Amino acid sequence: MKALQLFAQGQPLEAVDIEVDAPGPSDVIVRVEAAGICHSDVHYRSGPLGPKEFPITLGHEVAGSIVAVGDAVSDGRVGERVCLHYQTFCGACRWCTEGHEQFCPEGRMLGNSRSGGYAEFITVPSVNAVFLPEGVPMEHAAVMMCSSATALHALRQARTVPSDRVAVWGVGGLGMSAIQLARAMGVEEVFAVDRNLERLELAAELGATPINANEDAVAHLLEVTGGGVDVALELIGSGVTMKQVVDVLGPRGRAAIVGLSPDTIEVAPYGELVGREAEIIGVSDHLLTEITELLDFYVAGHLDLDRIVGLTVPLDAVMVNDVMDRMERFAGPARTVITP
Ligand SMILES: [Zn+2]
Ligand SMILES: [Zn+2]
Repeated sequence: MKALQLFAQGQPLEAVDIEVDAPGPSDVIVRVEAAGICHSDVHYRSGPLGPKEFPITLGHEVAGSIVAVGDAVSDGRVGERVCLHYQTFCGACRWCTEGHEQFCPEGRMLGNSRSGGYAEFITVPSVNAVFLPEGVPMEHAAVMMCSSATALHALRQARTVPSDRVAVWGVGGLGMSAIQLARAMGVEEVFAVDRNLERLELAAELGATPINANEDAVAHLLEVTGGGVDVALELIGSGVTMKQVVDVLGPRGRAAIVGLSPDTIEVAPYGELVGREAEIIGVSDHLLTEITELLDFYVAGHLDLDRIVGLTVPLDAVMVNDVMDRMERFAGPARTVITP
């Protein structure tokens, strides 16, 4: 089958002809029908964060149809439309049984530490292939598997409640989902912070108050909120914005950092955390249970992903690398999906 692989960081993806991973007894083989190109993939390609072993087939936002099952999986699943929870896990360790399976020591991530979905087929544990309700398009399901699911997890990690004022820093795929999910959770005041005015316009249509980050967004937000927000989500992955989400907090505010970056930030614990009982919270991935919740939000009409998935491209190395180049410059639509 055809797949796009990363052979070394700092190099473009290459098209290869390989065998799909042989399924174990509890695995299924899925024909990939949609694979989202995530900003993490762009980071993986450029390095230094990301996969440790090469070559690796990227792609962790995947949806498709089951075409074959292992001996321990019911034949009835063949033909099922599914979306893939990208984190595999053992199901038996302390982290798995306490509901934090993203820390499972046996865990692997599709498109990072095991084969991903930039391919015609992918092998995953049956439990990771989540039934996709009729009427959810594959492209939307794929995007939900990372950006929307992580947006939901970030809002949960920040313990968001309807009375909170929520600032979303960076309105790409994650941010657009975060705005809609926050609204669906009953939050009335959501602010969208970005430099891209076109994206801010879309964020406003989704119910957020746009804040132009080409100007001093922190000062602006401190002023309009009269002292800071309750929840600030950092979805960009840069030291500058990570500091800004801390600076913009009001009393008891929670800064949830989602973006990937090797940057460091300087925080004065007394002045910035202690006095206001503010918190900086790390957000890593999301949970299998949140995938089902997310699909419920979608089916209930709370997630409009039509305008987030701006472009689809075939499984073609030149086109996919080109999309990634543009994403590196924060240009192009919020999300592009590969449809093999
Ligand atoms: Zn992703
Ligand atoms: Zn485990």
